[in-house]
Amino acid sequence: MAKQEDIFKNVVSHAKEYGFIFPSSEVYDGLSAVYDYAQNGVELKKNIREYWWKSMVQMNDNIVGLDAAILMHPTTWKASGHVDAFNDPLIDNKDSKKRYRADVLVEDFAEKINQKAQKEIEKARARFGDAFNEEEFVTTNTRVVEYLSKYKEILSRLAKGMTDNLQDVKALIEELEIADPETGSKNWTDVKQFNLMFGTKLGASADSAMDLYLRPETAQGIFVNFLNVQKSGRMKVPFGIAQTGKAFRNEIVARQFIFRMREFEQMEMQFFVRPGEEMQWYHHWKETRLKWHLSLGLGKENYRFHDHEKLAHYANAAADIEFNFPFGFKELEGIHSRTDFDLKAHEQYSGRKLQYFDPELNENYVPYVVETSVGLDRMFLAVFATSLQEETLEDGSTRTVLKLPAVLAPTKAAVLPLVKKDGLPDIAKKIIDDLKWDFNVAYDEKDAVGRRYRRQDALGTPFCITVDHQTIEDETVTIRHRDTMKQDRVKISELRAIIEDEVSMKNWLMKM
Ligand code: ATP
Repeated sequence: MAKQEDIFKNVVSHAKEYGFIFPSSEVYDGLSAVYDYAQNGVELKKNIREYWWKSMVQMNDNIVGLDAAILMHPTTWKASGHVDAFNDPLIDNKDSKKRYRADVLVEDFAEKINQKAQKEIEKARARFGDAFNEEEFVTTNTRVVEYLSKYKEILSRLAKGMTDNLQDVKALIEELEIADPETGSKNWTDVKQFNLMFGTKLGASADSAMDLYLRPETAQGIFVNFLNVQKSGRMKVPFGIAQTGKAFRNEIVARQFIFRMREFEQMEMQFFVRPGEEMQWYHHWKETRLKWHLSLGLGKENYRFHDHEKLAHYANAAADIEFNFPFGFKELEGIHSRTDFDLKAHEQYSGRKLQYFDPELNENYVPYVVETSVGLDRMFLAVFATSLQEETLEDGSTRTVLKLPAVLAPTKAAVLPLVKKDGLPDIAKKIIDDLKWDFNVAYDEKDAVGRRYRRQDALGTPFCITVDHQTIEDETVTIRHRDTMKQDRVKISELRAIIEDEVSMKNWLMKM
């Protein structure tokens, strides 16, 4: 099996070679942790966004959409806590001059210990087969007990240090002898806080200009519009407001491709509920969001929940849905019970009431909020990396195939005339003219048909439709399925229904 690192490199180069993702302003050597979505990437990204939007807004009659501006009144960020507390602990290596997030260094170190335990568990599972009792094994095998307790101890000391005293985090790094991952040096500076918001200015002259921030999350645009939406939409609690849009964070450690970017897109939904009912909704949304992810068929084993022990200042419960990225399990989505923290803070800073009159209870209150927040770019990476596969065929040759969920594929079908003459291109173009009203379809006449199939496989196109000489006689074509490579002879008039059946959002979302 290929090494994780190689798999990841392959993902990055495939994304570039096939027109999914380019480094930003590459002619100037790029801009760190900023990326552009190319002709195929933009379609895949749009389809993921739409898949989310449909499941949220269209399928729930108590959730509506919003598109708030990126620039907001600066007091917003004071109220939300971002001015004072949106910090990452950074640490510099004095020898390499490289900068790291102190918490990430410790977490990565702890994860390695956890991986050792997991390896022992897998070995034992293979040895004992069906008779294996994992629960018993992890509590009795001395090595595993030792690894797991060390793992937990490190994480709990990290959490404590992060809240109480950053110098304890530095002490932990030194005690564990954590080295600079790139150079091996253990010569560290103190841990310092670093605010992640990008500042900008509004106004023409230097003195009158107002300091603004590029929003670091889309959620606050929802909170400040809560009452506008509730009143104008006559919404009754419980109800939700969904939004997708750009967010900006001046991330310190911005490696790992589109996993951690400085400009990225979020898909967030804030669900407003009666105080006291938030836990029930929190569990509801945890489950619903996992089902949404699973409906894409990327494999149940690739997801896990991580319940937070240390909670952010605004939350009374929080969990991540983690995904098995090419570099291990990492956060894909957060589900947070945010209490009434945000609305109350905006009431306090704005002096306006942000309350709901509940006709059933006959009382006013500030609703509690359960949030679901997923990174669109992280979703893209999860889908793209998992779908990219190298297959060995029966004849010993290999093919690279991007097995994207068909509902998300940038192009649903490619129409290929077998040869560039005898009127076959005209028939192919007629088929396209008919299908393009419903699907993104492509035309390709270059190279031998086998090579064109491979190219469409690498782009993730679920169907190739080939027009040949028999088509002239009986209006049939071959349709080739990307994953099975099976080819069927079908009538041109049947194509729409065949494609629709495989790519329709309805069929995919019904799996939720
Ligand atoms: P992390 O711990 O990985 O920095 P976070 O806990 O700060 O993430 P949230 O503030 O909960 O993230 O944001 C919600 C979602 O937005 C995350 O689950 C993730 O999918 C996405 N996200 C956050 N930061 C970035 C980033 N820099 N690049 C891409 N996506 C991001």
